[in-house]
Amino acid sequence: MYDSIVIGSGIAGSVVARQLAEQGGRKVLVVEKRDHIGGNCYDRTDEYGILVHEYGPHIFHTNMEDVFAWLSRFTEWTLYENGHQVVARVDGELIPVPFNLNTLHMVYEKEEADALEAKLLEAYGEGSRVPVMELRRHPDPQIQAIAQYIYEKIFLRYTMKQWGQTPEEISPEVTGRVPVLISYDNRYFQDKYQGVPKDGFLKLFERMLDHENITVQTGTDAREFLKIQKDGLVWGGQRFTGSVIYTGELDELYDCRYGRLAYRSLRFAFEHFAQDDFQDGHSVVNYTVSEDYTRITEFKHLTRQEHTDGTTIIKEYPFAYTGAEGEIPYYAILNEENQALYQRYKKLAEQTPGLYLLGRLAEYQYYNIDAMAKKALRLADSLLQEA
Ligand code: FAD
Ligand code: UDP
Repeated sequence: MYDSIVIGSGIAGSVVARQLAEQGGRKVLVVEKRDHIGGNCYDRTDEYGILVHEYGPHIFHTNMEDVFAWLSRFTEWTLYENGHQVVARVDGELIPVPFNLNTLHMVYEKEEADALEAKLLEAYGEGSRVPVMELRRHPDPQIQAIAQYIYEKIFLRYTMKQWGQTPEEISPEVTGRVPVLISYDNRYFQDKYQGVPKDGFLKLFERMLDHENITVQTGTDAREFLKIQKDGLVWGGQRFTGSVIYTGELDELYDCRYGRLAYRSLRFAFEHFAQDDFQDGHSVVNYTVSEDYTRITEFKHLTRQEHTDGTTIIKEYPFAYTGAEGEIPYYAILNEENQALYQRYKKLAEQTPGLYLLGRLAEYQYYNIDAMAKKALRLADSLLQEA
């Protein structure tokens, strides 16, 4: 009855489903174990009428014109005129993150800041993006001193909270996502398009999946229906010869037979205040030297909602995922050992014709929304070409 079964309705699953249904005329079944679509991008209106992101703050940002155009078919955007901006609470002050030349001038006296700025410009050039771990290796002791300040005040404690490990212990790509900017640029991302869907993420997903060739089943764990046999796939007890695109955890597909893949999870604490503003207009404040949570997001500022009374915030408390009931794996922990284990599962999956792995979980990778959408479009196109 179906040509393709897509497991998971996050950005990966929803984009691939739409493209297969629309471009290829494929009949697609989307199966989602949560009681809603949208994966971690899902948002909802809370009891105070404020749109909140259930699984942590999500900002769409991209330089990919094709991805932006494709998603824009399903939504208008609230684009941030001056980009997404983040500050860190350090020693009683709110300083711009990523650390940039504005931050430098806030934390050093003018004369010293001027001298350091000249050094950084000479060493790296205007507009450079330098990972903090690389800055620390610069031979100049003054540059090393700035690097040490940034390391201690911005990265060390936050990374310990987020990953349970020091910046040295985690993959350098991770801290490299927030490089030191040798420019007066306070934006967290340097992408051309930055913002949120005008009517929220859920509406975007609803419109994406609203197609005559797509059937969506929420509240359904695909593992109850999918069986992987030596010679192929079985769905609901019957041989399935179409494609199955799986966007969940790969180890779970094989009952964790080689052991569990390691992830970090998050506990989200929502709080509402009967006041107009909680953090002085800032959408995100990172707590890089204190507190047990990593950051506080104030939704009305993030999504530019006009509310005269009341504001809702979310605090993020990271912890090690154990696989216990109700826990959600958010971040793959990228290191050699974990990737080797992932590869063992991937080898199994490769033996099954018709099974495709896509997404942050199934690929055990760190993807942003735009990169995920791009990957999903590519997979759909290659599946359509194969046929
Ligand atoms: P998911 O969104 O996780 O979707 C996978 C879906 O599959 C889930 O709905 C899950 O329930 C379902 N599923 C799994 N197993 C099964 C099963 N057996 N049966 C049925 N359904 C199943 N990216 C950005 O670009 N900007 C941001 O600001 C940003 N902020 C983030 C903040 C946080 C706290 C986190 C954790 C991530 C953030 N990301 C952000 C990344 C973004 O969430 C991901 O890129 C995106 O969600 C990946 O989409 P996905 O479809 O691969 O996975
Ligand atoms: N990071 C940090 N301090 C900050 C911001 C980021 O130490 O104020 C580090 C931390 O290790 C984090 C990584 O940089 O996990 C990547 O940050 P990013 O904001 O990209 O993480 P995301 O929330 O998107 O996963």
